Amino acid sequence: MTLRYYLDEAMHLRAMNSLEKTIRLPEDWPISSLRMVHSNRKTMGLRFSAHSGLEVRCPEGFSESSALAFVHSKKNWVLRQKHRFDSQSQRFPLPPQGFAWCRGETYALRGTENRLEAGVDSTRKEIVYMKIADPQICRKRVFLWLKADLDARIAQELRQIQASGFAPFSELPKYQIRSMKSRWGSCSRNGSMRFNLALAHLNDACLRYVVCHEVAHLVHFHHGPAFHAFLELLHPDEKRGGTAVQQHAHVLVNGGVNWPNEMKKAGA
Ligand SMILES: [Zn+2]
Repeated sequence: MTLRYYLDEAMHLRAMNSLEKTIRLPEDWPISSLRMVHSNRKTMGLRFSAHSGLEVRCPEGFSESSALAFVHSKKNWVLRQKHRFDSQSQRFPLPPQGFAWCRGETYALRGTENRLEAGVDSTRKEIVYMKIADPQICRKRVFLWLKADLDARIAQELRQIQASGFAPFSELPKYQIRSMKSRWGSCSRNGSMRFNLALAHLNDACLRYVVCHEVAHLVHFHHGPAFHAFLELLHPDEKRGGTAVQQHAHVLVNGGVNWPNEMKKAGA
């Protein structure tokens, strides 16, 4: 599965190229500040967007006070825009913390409607598109999406192991998903399993092998013959599975999926 997301770069370039200034608005306004942008236009104009909030665009040489006077004369329009923005945000509410995005779901991001779309390209790979203007938010959303997707797949593998009758657990064991540099998975002596977020990029066969491998460590904390014998019960095609996963070693050599530190710990 390929995950691809695109950013509204034009929006950022525009913001960077113009000389802009933030002006505070009086307290009785429903919006705390206003962006003043000088451009080569001839008249003043007001914009209200989910991305940049209230923005006044004015010709070169116009002062802050003339921009403020203009905005004051348009207060009713601003109030209507703000109302529209707020009701839109309610219509597409942001999900609660820890909630995973679902494919095809519509949600609001800074008040604009976004849709997570899945398509199939000519190579028959599934592609998920996310249209988000802010690269920082985009990165975080993609991270959460990858993590949720992997989480569901790991849970599915564990349920299959449970159904096989060889599972060393009666209830599904807890595990964590982390960005790890050198290992696909790990299992500590006290039985806590960790899976590398980079597994989100590997296919089900590879994931199955890694999950079975870590589950086998719940019983044998080594890689000796007893471990392999048990792993073979969980994963009859043990050798092939291991080889398939090794073919993706380059992902780990390159440091796995390189997410910013704060994201490595994000979510539950
Ligand atoms: Zn191992």
